[in-house]
Amino acid sequence: LRILGIDTSCDDTGVGIVELTPDGRVTVLANRVWSQAVHAQYGGVMPELASREHVERIDQIMEGALHEAGLSVTDIGAVAATSGPGLVGALLVGLMYGKGLAQALNVPFHAAHHLEGHIFAAASEAELRAPFLALVVSGGHTHLFDVPRDGEYVLVGATRDDAAGEAFDKVARLAGLGYPGGPAISEAATRGDPNAVPFKEPLKGQSGFDFSFSGLKTAALLAHRAGATPENLAASFQRAAVQTLVNTTVRAAQSTGRRTVVVSGGVAANRALRDAFAATGLHVVFPGRGLNTDNGAMIALAGAAAIQAGRPASALDGGATAYAPLANA
Ligand code: ATP
Ligand code: FE
Repeated sequence: LRILGIDTSCDDTGVGIVELTPDGRVTVLANRVWSQAVHAQYGGVMPELASREHVERIDQIMEGALHEAGLSVTDIGAVAATSGPGLVGALLVGLMYGKGLAQALNVPFHAAHHLEGHIFAAASEAELRAPFLALVVSGGHTHLFDVPRDGEYVLVGATRDDAAGEAFDKVARLAGLGYPGGPAISEAATRGDPNAVPFKEPLKGQSGFDFSFSGLKTAALLAHRAGATPENLAASFQRAAVQTLVNTTVRAAQSTGRRTVVVSGGVAANRALRDAFAATGLHVVFPGRGLNTDNGAMIALAGAAAIQAGRPASALDGGATAYAPLANA
């Protein structure tokens, strides 16, 4: 079964195709993403411009994905599209496109949750069966879920202020390292001293599993004003951010008894974070190349998981939702 997945939740137009075989294996056949550049001049995403650009690009991105997979549109056996959370106008473009496609092909349609997409991006690397822990570290989320049973999500911790990716972006900006901040920080960090700036571990000593990045951000600003070089700031901030993410997740794994941890979202592309998680001794699964930041293949993978779990197809009259928590905790 070839599943086509669409994500237009923010400023990336993503279309991906995965193959689900009867033995339950999934393979990514294509993954095409158009990253919108128009927003750079405004210093943030302009929702109306994002919607318009999705409309202009989505046909071309879908054709590109079909070409990459060597398929024609009639080879698609199911369609999945993100219905939330995200920018409603942007979401609607991919959601309506996906529903139209499913109806035209007369195949099932699955509305997907964006965070379930980020989590199942890791299904490109290993079979993901509950129970496991899932840490989503992206531009808008720093959420730690326990997944006791397939399709069931319990929120065990979340950021109290900034998301991890947001903190990387803000520290990069104040250090003059450019945008997007995550890759810029990780590149500059290779030339800096991770012990140059003594950041304190946020929420140290807490019994829960929350995160906080605003204190690190303020400390970074003060260190910058006191003359820390961008490279030292980047290396030290990255060390502190990685430490709090890994330590808190390891404690949650011990507390819940989970042995498998999925780490996904844009920040999961970070090399230092991957190395630190690999050293924990837990079975840590990251998304494959190109699947960390927003893309369509991760939505196709979430669709494949829903199909495998026997979830029914979605009704075609469901809408897009800006706010849609994955777990009610
Ligand atoms: P959400 O899914 O929460 O709505 P988003 O989809 O915009 O947010 P992603 O595309 O998953 O977020 O991730 C983007 C974030 O990942 C940015 O904040 C970016 O700085 C960060 N990021 C990307 N690459 C790296 C890296 N190598 N190291 C650290 N952070 C990174
Ligand atoms: Fe995302």
